[in-house]
Amino acid sequence: MALPDDLRELYQQVILDHSRSPRNQGRFSADSCIHVHGDNPSCGDEIDLYVRFNDDGSIRELKFEGQGCAISQASASMMTEKIQGLSQEQIVGLIQDLKHTVLGQVPILKPETLGELQLLEGVQKFPQRVRCALLSWNALEQAMKIKANRAD
Ligand code: ZN
Repeated sequence: MALPDDLRELYQQVILDHSRSPRNQGRFSADSCIHVHGDNPSCGDEIDLYVRFNDDGSIRELKFEGQGCAISQASASMMTEKIQGLSQEQIVGLIQDLKHTVLGQVPILKPETLGELQLLEGVQKFPQRVRCALLSWNALEQAMKIKANRAD
C-alpha cells in the first residue's frame, strides 16, 4: 500500500532523525542480557544488540551499538523504540509484519501498527537495502530464540 506524499515526507524526516541521533544506544554487561551480533557485509553494516527479557518473554529493556548506512541504523533505532511495552506475541507479529512490508508482501496486521516503520517499505525496490533494513530485526529474532531455548 502506497503512503500519501505528506506522510512519506514526514517519515523520511523521522528516518534521518533516527540515523543522526539513534535512540537507546549502548550496552549492558554480558551476564545481564542476551547479546547478538549481526552484520551485513554487502553494505558494511554492523549491529550489536543487547536485550534484557522479562520472564514472560516480553522485553524489559534493550540497547544497541552499530555502524553502517542510515537505513540500517535508523531501522535499529526505530525498532528499540517501537517494541517497548509490547508483549512477546505482539513483538513476533511486528517482526513478521515488518518483514512483509520490507519485502513488499501484504502485512498481516493493520498498517497503523507499524507507524513510522512503514517508511521502510521504500527499500523493497532495492534488494541490497532490504538486508540493511532487516539487520536489527533479524538480530532481535535471534535474541528471542536464544531466550526461548534458555527458558525450556
Ligand atoms: Zn546498509
